[in-house]
Amino acid sequence: MPAIDLQDVSKIYGSVTALDQVSLRVEAGEWLAVMGPSGSGKTTLVNLAGCLDIPSSGSVWVDGVDVSSFSRRELARFRAEKIGFIFQQFHLVPYLTALENILLAQYFHSLADETEAMAALERVGMADRARHLPGQLSGGEQQRVSIARALINDPAIILADEPTGNLDERNEEAVMELLRGAHLAGKTLVMVTHDPTIARYADRRIQLHHGRITDISIFSEADEPQFDEVLSQLWTLRENHEPLSNDRLRITGPLTLGRALAAMAARGWLRQDQDRITLLAEGEKRAGDLIRRHRLAELLFSRTFELRNETELEAQACRFEHSLSPEATARICTFLGHPRACPHGSPIPPGECCPNGLGAAAVSRRESR
Ligand code: ADP
Ligand code: MG
Repeated sequence: MPAIDLQDVSKIYGSVTALDQVSLRVEAGEWLAVMGPSGSGKTTLVNLAGCLDIPSSGSVWVDGVDVSSFSRRELARFRAEKIGFIFQQFHLVPYLTALENILLAQYFHSLADETEAMAALERVGMADRARHLPGQLSGGEQQRVSIARALINDPAIILADEPTGNLDERNEEAVMELLRGAHLAGKTLVMVTHDPTIARYADRRIQLHHGRITDISIFSEADEPQFDEVLSQLWTLRENHEPLSNDRLRITGPLTLGRALAAMAARGWLRQDQDRITLLAEGEKRAGDLIRRHRLAELLFSRTFELRNETELEAQACRFEHSLSPEATARICTFLGHPRACPHGSPIPPGECCPNGLGAAAVSRRESR
């Protein structure tokens, strides 16, 4: 069951069609980024998904319930139960302290509990500012308080409308780290942003234009180097007859290992079983090609250009493994006489250019299983 399911939803304000027959499913636990120029309907979409408003037509399902025909009162009740909001302008109550803002959110939901509220502020690093009014806090601090407020009633869904729009880079990072924590804890996240770097944190991005979804992308090309990093580590582990498990993998960059593996599984490159990983044919092929490019580059630089510095060799090979085309790779392989091993003695997976190329590749793959 999807966390949010918009079916053919339109929202019309007078002569303005803010959303135009949008259909969108957000799976439970998914992190979706909503992008698009100003006025394209992002806030309208989030407000409808968040039961802050009702559609002009179409239906809105949240957590399996059709809320399109709810009264304002029913919407408010449902919202308090299921959804946490984070806004660009923070929307803290200005005459209440940070702590009181949290207590108020608890009160709307069920019961105010000061110990819990303090613990929530503690988790966002704001315990020592609990008695400050929003006006006495910086933008970053206010946003941290509003994240504590959004999470306090443990909602399944977090909706964030330009959460970093008013923050400097350092605070932006702190806020994204908190959102990432919420995502890892299993929350469904819908986040509006016009910043592509921020959007990369999400599992999936949609683009709005004039109230319509014009583009959906799942993991941009920018994520490829991180996937490659995982693939080459898996390949090396297997070569060393070590188990392919999560705790043996290291990843650097914006994607967490969990998200990267999930995305790679979604692409059909690997299968995950508890923390055991199996490379599937497509992942196998990509990993093999990658290792081949890397090791051929190493050999080229050490043998032909006599580059002996290990660090430099590794750095060059890492760069080349991403940029060599299949044709260039075949040429280097042929130039080097279809070598079987890299300068460190590790086997170079054969390619189509190699004598008995594909056959040899298939055999070496079977042997390595
Ligand atoms: P975004 O968040 O992408 O900037 P919005 O969803 O806020 O866009 O707005 C989409 C369109 O709907 C805009 O043309 C905006 O002017 C209009 N709009 C949004 N809310 C209202 C409203 N309450 N009354 C009238 N027009 C509105
Ligand atoms: Mg907006």
